Amino acid sequence: MELSRFSMGVGDRFGLQGKAQLQAFIKARSYGLEVTPVWNKSFREHSIVKTNPIQVREEADNATTALNWDSAYFVDADHINNSNVDYFLSASDFFTIDIADTINKSSLGEEIDDFIAFLDPVLRQDSISVDLPDFKLNRNVIGEFAEKYLAAAEESRQVYLYLVDKLGGNNFITEVSLDEASEPQTPLEIFLFLAALGQKKIDVRTIAPRFSGAFNKGIDYEGDLTLFAKEFEAGLKVIQLAVNQFGLSSALKMSIHSGSDKFSIYSIMRDLIYQYNTGLHLKTAGTTWLEELIGLALAGSEGLEIAKEIFRGSLERRAELCSPYLTVLNIDNSNLPSADQVDQWSGERFAETLRHDQDCSSYNSDFRQLLHVGYKLAAEMGDRYLSALNQHALIIGEQVEQNILERHMKRVFLKKDG
Ligand SMILES: [Zn+2]
Repeated sequence: MELSRFSMGVGDRFGLQGKAQLQAFIKARSYGLEVTPVWNKSFREHSIVKTNPIQVREEADNATTALNWDSAYFVDADHINNSNVDYFLSASDFFTIDIADTINKSSLGEEIDDFIAFLDPVLRQDSISVDLPDFKLNRNVIGEFAEKYLAAAEESRQVYLYLVDKLGGNNFITEVSLDEASEPQTPLEIFLFLAALGQKKIDVRTIAPRFSGAFNKGIDYEGDLTLFAKEFEAGLKVIQLAVNQFGLSSALKMSIHSGSDKFSIYSIMRDLIYQYNTGLHLKTAGTTWLEELIGLALAGSEGLEIAKEIFRGSLERRAELCSPYLTVLNIDNSNLPSADQVDQWSGERFAETLRHDQDCSSYNSDFRQLLHVGYKLAAEMGDRYLSALNQHALIIGEQVEQNILERHMKRVFLKKDG
């Protein structure tokens, strides 16, 4: 099974929204959009909610069977490395190899020499020039790149070969992610990194670079949109160039780890992927749980009580809940309502404050970010939370489906008329 041109990572903290999520992919077809669903859940989420990858596999298998989904779908082991790949082995068929921690580790002089030799034919070509400023290949530049990234490429190879050994080469999709690096990669670095993956014969299908700007959890992109557009376009160009030069799969495409809901860059990416006639993998995992809270709030009575209790608990345990996510949160505490205020709210008011509708004056991104990391409290409620989800499945399912279809897929994948 292959990824289609467009694919999207969806996540589900509690594993009950598989069908609602898949409904969005089914409805997308009526807009001419074929998008491959990829269920992903990180090691961190599994440990907080106390779930395991087998449950994600079951959720995906059950949803696709129940709704007669006849195309490809995948279960992603998100951000794995040598130390935790085994945990995901039996459940996953998409592996996001995270090599951010290996950047700047030294490699052997011999490996660097081999890499420079591998690039020799490229260095001799005049035609390698790509229309990008500062894209100048020479031995010095390659040497500097190798010092910084070659060990990371080697780490990718080791995980990849381990997976090939355990699963068979054609039975999984490989993504390599650099998005958690401390700084963005230049187009030249992305190109050379892909060269290194090509040299090592890694069948990489999606590559996730780090971009400028803040990709905080569950809220919009914060940064320079013009700079992002330049970086994204340059990324698409060097991916195409690398595919042509280094024998990588022609299906190789950009993956964007969005941290969910980066709406202001969606139209930029959409226009560029159509301009360059290329694909995109969008990871936007975590907000399904917020749609559950919105649905519970709208359901009223016990559902609304649960939503309010989770907010109160999240305020009280703010430091603890935020600590695993410090680099990807930016909560202005002075903009948070008090728990007593929220207790007075209607379900509609709670939903409007939480729902990511930037045109709505009640929307509060600080409230949203805090609740985004508050899922541990829902997990602690156990059966009470899960049975409320089951009881209000209809209204929650509607929120989940509409969110994926209307706010994500249509904005990022659907070609703009004219
Ligand atoms: Zn990531």
